[in-house]
Amino acid sequence: MSKAIEEVYASLERSFRGSLLRPDDAEYAGARQIWNGLVARKPALIARCKDPMDVQAAVRAAKSAGAITAVRCGGHSLGGFSSCDDGLVIDLSPMRMVQVYEENRFARFQGGCLLGSIDSATQTVALAFPAGVVSHTGAGGLVLGGGTGWLNRLYGLSCDNVRGFSVILADGSIVHANAKENPDLFWALRGGGGNFGVVTEFEVALHPVSKVLFGRGICPGDEALSLLRLWRDFMPEAPDNLRWGFSLKSAPRVENIPAHLRGRPIASASALWVGDLEKGGRYVDRALAVVNHHAVTKQVFCFRELQTLADSDFPHGRRYYTKAGYFKTLSDESILIMMEALETNPSVSNEIELNYLGGAAARVAPGETAFGDRSSPFVLNLLANWSDPADDAANIGWIRSLFARLRPKMAPGVHINFMSGDEDDRVSEAYRERWERLRAIKTIYDPQNFFRLNQNIPPLTAATNTSSGSTGPPIYPRQT
Ligand SMILES: Cc1cc2nc3c(=O)[nH]c(=O)nc-3n(C[C@H](O)[C@H](O)[C@H](O)COP(=O)(O)OP(=O)(O)OC[C@H]3O[C@@H](n4cnc5c(N)ncnc54)[C@H](O)[C@@H]3O)c2cc1C
Repeated sequence: MSKAIEEVYASLERSFRGSLLRPDDAEYAGARQIWNGLVARKPALIARCKDPMDVQAAVRAAKSAGAITAVRCGGHSLGGFSSCDDGLVIDLSPMRMVQVYEENRFARFQGGCLLGSIDSATQTVALAFPAGVVSHTGAGGLVLGGGTGWLNRLYGLSCDNVRGFSVILADGSIVHANAKENPDLFWALRGGGGNFGVVTEFEVALHPVSKVLFGRGICPGDEALSLLRLWRDFMPEAPDNLRWGFSLKSAPRVENIPAHLRGRPIASASALWVGDLEKGGRYVDRALAVVNHHAVTKQVFCFRELQTLADSDFPHGRRYYTKAGYFKTLSDESILIMMEALETNPSVSNEIELNYLGGAAARVAPGETAFGDRSSPFVLNLLANWSDPADDAANIGWIRSLFARLRPKMAPGVHINFMSGDEDDRVSEAYRERWERLRAIKTIYDPQNFFRLNQNIPPLTAATNTSSGSTGPPIYPRQT
């Protein structure tokens, strides 16, 4: 144990209400693991905080000892930012309380909540918070980074629905950030990630959502161009209630997929309608009838069920690598590049996700929150998902090479929630004209860059610590 961590441990030992886990403790092996199996780091101390006072004590002790510190909510950071080697992890997982205020349609939830904890509480009164599409994702990282999901076209991004934050700053003080108190911090926390402090509580708006209509189908690769052309032309006029998107991938070898398509490139369509179900039926039917779809299903789901549909596709411990970005317009050439890349796809679980943002999320003025670009509606997420370390280079290489081919056709910008750990050079691109303001706010609230294991926004101060410290050996093969 380093001297810094010894100091942190000694300072917390007597009064910490949660648990302090060191490598010799029985629970440590499980507690150190994060979702992405590609990132296996070994912190020297995991402080499982029971309440905001524990968080405050941990921040103060780590700051004073100069210990490298990661903050963890759900541990789903694709880049593995919520762990470190030899340092401290402030683990918020015991802090998962949610309070719902049905009459005024808002909720308060603690900084360690998973999306599932929030949905379970809000759906008991048929309300929903717009967030992501996999229920075991942490709300902390997702909301601070922006947050897209099934309800964004109708109700905006997750960060657009936050009314206030309780935050523990790098000096250990607790502050509130909302439209009246610390408005600069309130602005920065809506999209600026984990750069400004540990959020112990979020206050968010809720919306009435209970039953939704969800249709799916797959279209053979050779019809994908016609399908995506129709989609790209239709979506700018589509009602906000419709979220129609695609996963381009290799068809799984399962029974409900026609034998001639198994293992072949396909466009897997999903069409969700939130609102009047009869009206929605017409849109969903149309989306799944425009070209020759197979394995079509259409079903009414409780919203909570919908939120867990994709859970098993992204299990903990597999290896994941992503690259993401936007298109202002989606050209035929880009579609063909994507479909062609699937011919050499090294893993059947890899996918190219295409979604159309627009709707309420795009109507928020660009300067209203720190979240990056909302003006390029076509959202691209290249996601590799495999299990054998021997396949790391093939899968990472496949994503990098596809991204490099698409990049010249893309608009600048990226949603930080979908960035990998080797993309430091793209953080300023994510924020663009918001970058300098974010750096100025970072300088006020965290001048020494204590919170730096994230998509880092370095402060303007001279004595800035921009290195991510001893976070471990490089996990990604070199960029070529
Ligand atoms: C399976 C899966 C599905 C996903 N689906 C979506 C989706 O639908 N939409 C979407 O927008 N994104 C999605 N993402 C991306 C996801 O939003 C980010 O990976 C996000 O960072 C995960 O949050 P977390 O709390 O689980 O992460 P963690 O790894 O715990 O933390 C990520 C970062 O956020 C910081 N952080 C977390 N909590 C706090 C807090 N309370 N206070 C201060 N800083 C904090 C951490 O320090 C770290 O830098 C998905 C990711 C996965 C793995």
